[in-house]
Amino acid sequence: MATSGPPIQETQAVVRQWADWFRRADDAELADGLIKIREAGIDPFEAVFATGVRRFEKSGEYVADGALGIVAWLRSNCKLSGGAAAERVGIARQLEHLPETQKAFARGEVGYQHVAVLARTAEHVGTAAVATAEASLLKAAETMDPGLFTAVAKNFEHRVDAVAALAEANRAYERRYLHLSEPSDGLVRMDGLLDAEGGAILRTALNAGIMLGNDDDRTPGQRRADALVDLCRRKAGGPATGAGPRPHLVIRASLDTLLGTDGAPAGELEVGGSVPGETVRRLACDAALTRITGRGELEAEISRASRSIPPSTRRALEARDRTCVAGRCDRPPQWTDGHHLQHWTHGGPTLLANLVLLCRRHHRMVHEGGWGLRRGEHGRWGLVPPVKLVAARARSA
Ligand SMILES: [Zn+2]
Ligand SMILES: [Zn+2]
Repeated sequence: MATSGPPIQETQAVVRQWADWFRRADDAELADGLIKIREAGIDPFEAVFATGVRRFEKSGEYVADGALGIVAWLRSNCKLSGGAAAERVGIARQLEHLPETQKAFARGEVGYQHVAVLARTAEHVGTAAVATAEASLLKAAETMDPGLFTAVAKNFEHRVDAVAALAEANRAYERRYLHLSEPSDGLVRMDGLLDAEGGAILRTALNAGIMLGNDDDRTPGQRRADALVDLCRRKAGGPATGAGPRPHLVIRASLDTLLGTDGAPAGELEVGGSVPGETVRRLACDAALTRITGRGELEAEISRASRSIPPSTRRALEARDRTCVAGRCDRPPQWTDGHHLQHWTHGGPTLLANLVLLCRRHHRMVHEGGWGLRRGEHGRWGLVPPVKLVAARARSA
């Protein structure tokens, strides 16, 4: 059935009314206006847009314009970047199966970014899992800003499916990069992406390196830039040997997370964000890098169980292994962690016989990547691929 076309004039009239209102409003009314225009206008409009996108995708009409897909069509016709278009398509698809979220979105009770987080969670762990917890997730969304809500959603993902959450964290990790441009006009442009752990280490180190002097009129961005350069300067000028003090990273984790129990929550970085349980276990492996704290009554138990590698043991370990022991890796001690062959949470002692040096990359492969270590000759250790990698290679062979 054909309609008489979208209500353009009515929409434009409403936009004009808002523009007039913002021109005339008293200073004291502005805050309320900003809140209301999102609650009553922008967010509900995004909800309506999602409904439209869903119908449009199902209709397949975008093909008539020669577009290869709905995302490509939105990019070229709706003035959206690829990322913004894909996010809206994801929302449109997931909302169909999350009716309560759709309603809360249309009523302006949750914002666009909350819904984007929920849709991503549904993509990661399946809509059915999100639907069973929809009410409690929405309640959290209504009281939290999108950043805090993301942490809640990540924790939920981890509870539902620790394997998928780890795979997702590994995918995110693969996207890391740092790009430094050639200097131009006296400036070097720097941009990049870090995983949650890398970001937390950088942030912690930068915050520690920010020296606030009297009459400090630098912007926060300038202070961070100076702190980064200072850090690198110290590193570049410092002694070439020795692990030295490393940035301290504080993680809150339950005993279940440390033990790798099914359904355990993710570890929480003190500076915000969460990391998978396996990452917590890797970081706990060499406590020189990290202080892991348990919650509530677990506190005493964890602090008793956790142990850092004493300096004398570390020196003996460096003398024995000399480099990362994985395969033919030759990264020197200052790039390595002490890895417990049997994790201390499972009763492995912090003694030379249970420790090997692993560079950060190999340490990550062994924990998050699921690679095994098999003792070879001359104190070297062979890397054993994870089971699923072996299966994939067998299939492709
Ligand atoms: Zn380890
Ligand atoms: Zn290595």
